[in-house]
Amino acid sequence: LIELRDVNKHYGTLHVLRNISLTVDRGEVVVVIGPSGSGKSTLCRVMNRLETVESGTIVIDGRPLPEEGRGLAELRAEVGMVFQSFNLFAHKTVLANVSLAQIKVRGRKKEDADRRSRELLDRVGLAGQADKYPAQLSGGQQQRVAIARALAMDPKVLLFDEPTSALDPEMINEVLEVMRQLAREGMTMVVVTHEMGFARSAANRVVFMSDGCVIEDRTPEEFFTAPESERAKDFLSKIL
Ligand code: ATP
Ligand code: MG
Repeated sequence: LIELRDVNKHYGTLHVLRNISLTVDRGEVVVVIGPSGSGKSTLCRVMNRLETVESGTIVIDGRPLPEEGRGLAELRAEVGMVFQSFNLFAHKTVLANVSLAQIKVRGRKKEDADRRSRELLDRVGLAGQADKYPAQLSGGQQQRVAIARALAMDPKVLLFDEPTSALDPEMINEVLEVMRQLAREGMTMVVVTHEMGFARSAANRVVFMSDGCVIEDRTPEEFFTAPESERAKDFLSKIL
């Protein structure tokens, strides 16, 4: 469903993505881990062209990611993104936050968008919160709104960049549980996270990055019980 081949990116002289090749099949959950600064967020951002790359190809669902224009907007709608900071519109209700892009990007009628939004809010455990404003919700609830908003575009894949890192500990699980549910339903997901429990239980593959390179790309069982590289061993010894 997603294929990156020999992708390279620099920020000035800093080589942040070095010859990255990676495929994500339909229905797969790929967890990306690695030290701070290793390029995990950049990897997510190039997958929907929030960042350009200098070389290499990115193919989503059989179509090369276009440089710009309508093709890009269309393809971007297929690749949903959930960030650490929820990025909700503070002056809009929960319902309006989830409906907005459906109306603007997908061209749905307001009634249809709102109906779909309520279904999705129900699915992420937020039935009854539709008319509140983001500031009236907890961080975990806001992040679940952000997930509902991403789902509302009917994306083919969802990218998560540290979705629980900004949350108080007691709210982390409610967000991970929604993500586990999506995984069970067959959603294709790329998840940057430090939640190793999630990686072990929900991932089909773990991709370990260091210094802009993919160092390991293996099943969670293999990765956590027998990491091959010194860098992965060192990383795991610090976090486990
Ligand atoms: P973290 O775990 O801290 O989120 P990360 O693995 O997500 O780290 P990236 O955010 O992808 O890492 O950053 C990779 C490198 O690129 C870092 O050294 C970072 O400082 C640098 N970088 C990221 N964004 C920019 C930017 N817009 N301009 C210049 N340098 C950047
Ligand atoms: Mg990051």
